[in-house]
Order: sequence, then C-alpha cells, then structure tokens
Amino acid sequence: MVENERKDDNTGDSGGKSPKKLRVLLRTFGCQMNIRDSEVIAGILIQAGFELRQSEDDADVVILNTCAVREHAEEKVWSEIGSLAKRRTKHEARGTQNEIRRTKNEARGTNEVHSPWSTVHSKDARDQFCEAKKVTVTKSDSHLSARTENREPRTASPIIGLVGCMAKNYGQAAFTRSPFVDFVVGPQDIAKIPEILQKLVHSQSILRQAQDCVVDGRQNRETKDEARSTRDEKEIEARSIKHEGREGDRNRKQENTEIQRTKQPSSILFERKIWETDGLTRPEEIYHSGFRSDTKKAYIVISEGCSNYCSYCVVPYVRGQLRHRRQEDILREAQEAASKGITEIFLLGQNVNSYRSVSATGAEGDFVDLLEAVHALEGVSRISFISSHPKDSNTRLFKAIAGLEKVKKSLHLPFQSGSDHILKSMNRGYNSKYYLELAREYRKIVPGGELSTDIIVGFPGESEEDFQATYRMVEDVRFDSAFIFKYSPRPHSKAVDFSDDVEKHEKERRHKLILDLQKRVSLSARQRREAK
Ligand code: SAM
Ligand code: SF4
Repeated sequence: MVENERKDDNTGDSGGKSPKKLRVLLRTFGCQMNIRDSEVIAGILIQAGFELRQSEDDADVVILNTCAVREHAEEKVWSEIGSLAKRRTKHEARGTQNEIRRTKNEARGTNEVHSPWSTVHSKDARDQFCEAKKVTVTKSDSHLSARTENREPRTASPIIGLVGCMAKNYGQAAFTRSPFVDFVVGPQDIAKIPEILQKLVHSQSILRQAQDCVVDGRQNRETKDEARSTRDEKEIEARSIKHEGREGDRNRKQENTEIQRTKQPSSILFERKIWETDGLTRPEEIYHSGFRSDTKKAYIVISEGCSNYCSYCVVPYVRGQLRHRRQEDILREAQEAASKGITEIFLLGQNVNSYRSVSATGAEGDFVDLLEAVHALEGVSRISFISSHPKDSNTRLFKAIAGLEKVKKSLHLPFQSGSDHILKSMNRGYNSKYYLELAREYRKIVPGGELSTDIIVGFPGESEEDFQATYRMVEDVRFDSAFIFKYSPRPHSKAVDFSDDVEKHEKERRHKLILDLQKRVSLSARQRREAK
C-alpha cells in the first residue's frame, strides 16, 4: 500500500481530522482492451487506497487512458488535455489572486484567508511548518517555471497523466507536446501508477509548502529531500571538478556553468515529470483486483500485444510482442466474475485465434480449447470474443461457435481491403479469394450468425480500382456491421514510409461511399433477421 492521502492542509498534519483519500478520475479512449485496462488501473488504485471520481471538478488526478491506433484518436486526447489545461490555468490564476489577497490580509493582521491551501492554515501554523521542514525556495528561483509558480493545491488543479498506447507512442515527447502532462505511463507499466502518483503528490505538496514560505518572506534551511539533493549536488560538483582536472582549463567555462546549475536550490525536485514506458510485460497480479465497471459483462484479456505487424498498425510497437496469459489464470478470472453474478464473459486479444496456452503441467491449448473451458464454467451464460484475424481463423473455430451453446453466434473478422495488392502491402497474410471463402464457410457452419468487419480506405497506393474491389467485397459478403476507417500514417509502422498519396477529400469520398453502402446492407440484414 502506498502513501496516498490528500492532506488538505499539505503539511502532513491532518489536524486531528482523518486524512482524505486522493481522488482519481479515469477517462478511457479507444477499444475494449482499453476499457479493460482502465478497470485494471481502477482496481489497483482502489487496492492502494485511492478513491475513484466521476468528474474532474473534484479530482486530484485525471488519468487519460489513451488509444494511438489512428491519428484522430490521438487528437481527441490532446484536445481533452487542452480543456483540462484551460481549467487548470483558470484555477491557477484564481490561486494567484487568492495568494495576493491572503498576503494583504495577513499584512493587515487578519486571519481571514482565501487560498484553498491557506484556509486550513493560520499564519502561525505555516510559520511552524516552514521552520519544521526548513524549506529553501525563493520566488526568484529561475527554474521554478511559470507552470509551477503560484500553483494551487491539487484539489483544484489536477495532476494530469497520459497512460496507455499514446503514452508509449510519445514517450518523453508528451511533456513537450503539452507542458500540462505530469506523468506518462505505457500500457505495460500500468502497475506502477499508484507509486508514481504518490511521488507526484509528495513533490507537489512540498512545492506548495515551499511557496507558502516564500509568500511569508521566509527562507529556511533544508528538508530531508533537500539534504539529499544537496548531497547529490555536491557529488555532481565533485565530479565536475574531477572532470576539470582531467580535461584542463579549456573546459572551465562550461563546467562553471554546470556547477552553477547544480548549485541552484533544489526546487527542481518539485518540477517532477515521471515517464515509464519501457516495460515489456505486465505482472499477472494486476488482473486480480476483481474491479469491474459492468455488472453483467466481464472483459478478460487472453493475450497482450501483437506480432502480426500489419504495415499500417502501431499496436505491435505500443503494446509489444504477442504474449499469452495462461489458460488457468483466465479461467480463474472468469470464475471469479461469474461468482459475483457476472454472466457474460468477453475474451479480448488483438488476434484471439493465435492464442496458445502452456499450462503449469505442460499441457497445451488453443483458442477453441479455451472457449470450451470457459463454456464449462458454472455461472457463465454467454461468451463473446474479439478480434479474429482471417489468416488464423478456420472451420474448427466456426464449429465451436456453432456448437457451444453459450458462445454468441457472432464473428468480427476484419478484412481491411478487397484488393489483393493492397492486402499484400498491408502484410495481412491472405488474399480476397481466401477471405470470401472463409466468410462463406462461416455462414454455412454458423447459419444466421452475425458477421462484422473493419475496413481501411485510402491506404497508400489505393487506386479507384482497388477501392472498387473493397466496395464489391462489402456487397458480396453483406456484413451485419462494419467499422470503416480512413487511413492515417502511424509512427513506427512500416507504412509510415509509404507515400500517403490518397488525397484527404478522396479518402472522405471513399469512406462515405462504403458507409452508405454498409448502412443499406445493415438495414436489409436487420430486416431479414426480424422477418424470420
Ligand atoms: N487486431 C485487430 C485486427 O487485426 O483485426 C484490429 C485492431 S486495430 C486496433 C482496429 C482497427 O483499426 C483495424 O482493424 C484497422 O481497421 C484500424 N486501423 C489500424 N491502424 C490504422 C491506421 N493506421 N489507419 C486507419 N485505420 C487503422
Ligand atoms: Fe494491428 Fe494487425 Fe495486430 Fe490487428 S493483427 S493489432 S491490425 S498488427
């Protein structure tokens, strides 16, 4: 359990009142995998003693769990950060005015104070705190940036965290793109979030205390952190001097600058930006909290990452290589959900059909084995899954869908493009003939079963003829529903080096044509179903 209490007075002294828990708002962007990841984050935060909130109005921390699959998804997140930043700037401006008003009041000898931080404190209490903590920060500290100066306590000005696929995609650059981002955590590192929050809250709280001392015109000595920092500074200084000895006078000017920099007061400690995106795997324990946001449906991750490397896709880079969870772990999670009355199990993976499990006893199993095992669980009445990759789908899977009573008669089978040369360039591992046969096979084995898909229009090199092939595929297969995307280049992916040569207006035209066609197809599919 981490230290995670919101000390409204920011002193570490709760004044006899029981300390309040830090309040976190978690916002989710993107797919079911992200919805599940948010539940996992919520679960570990609750276990660590944080409190979840529904609105940023009363949150100390806002976590944005993000999607990087398309450019548009990322833009939505930056715009969300923009609006959070606006609120923060407003709060901070108000905080500054309160600070000025409070200082004036105190000069007049009144105890009537308005800053949220000082409502808890009398001047004496602050004085005592400054003495006790011996903080050294002056208003003129050059590296107390505009961003941190006059910052209000976090209750009014939330810490902002960028988490998930965009965090991995941007890494440290997220801090440059928006100075309002306080921490960045990739999808494989979510277990570290409670600890990161604790560190940030601690540093922000010290900052507030330090600033308050400055408002009183006091300058004291060292905090424990400060002492550590001073020690570090001395070490850096010693290293610099040693270096000077080796390199001689020609480096003196530069090193003097370095020594100057390291001799700055340690307020740089408070300008903390935490960045964790190097993790390769997640500990299995993060799935154990049991926290669910849906009382009827439990999303369960069966595999993480993807190794298919479709040329347009960022997933293998942000989520990492394909890793399978063990069948017994998945079954335990499903059983636990069922024991709480959650009757629908929704299995998640980027390509569920490539699932392979090796159990502790050495027994191997594939996705159909997993489906059968979940099917056998008491309390489970419905099983769904997403996504299936055409290259790994086969009649064994279709027979399982048809034959296992609890499995939803539905398959999401993205085809992406009806053009063979585009499919090749996308590195999808099948051609249009293969896909058509697979779809026919599914319809035959699962009569009346739903079929949905994903389509990308405007992929590099997509000619009118290629587009027409995609259009024909939608006409031929007659999907019950389809997600249609305009291609956007993604960093790291292979296609980012291809020329994005389909004009924006042409992508829009193709997108609309398929969308209109699919609307007509979906309507007639629904009418056919209802007529039965
Ligand atoms: N793993 C799933 C599969 O292969 O079917 C799909 C996962 S991906 C997160 C969801 C969909 O986003 C893809 O099927 C594709 O249609 C779309 N997509 C991925 N990258 C894209 C890009 N760069 N531009 C447009 N759409 C993209
Ligand atoms: Fe991306 Fe292809 Fe993997 Fe799906 S299968 S996640 S589209 S790389």
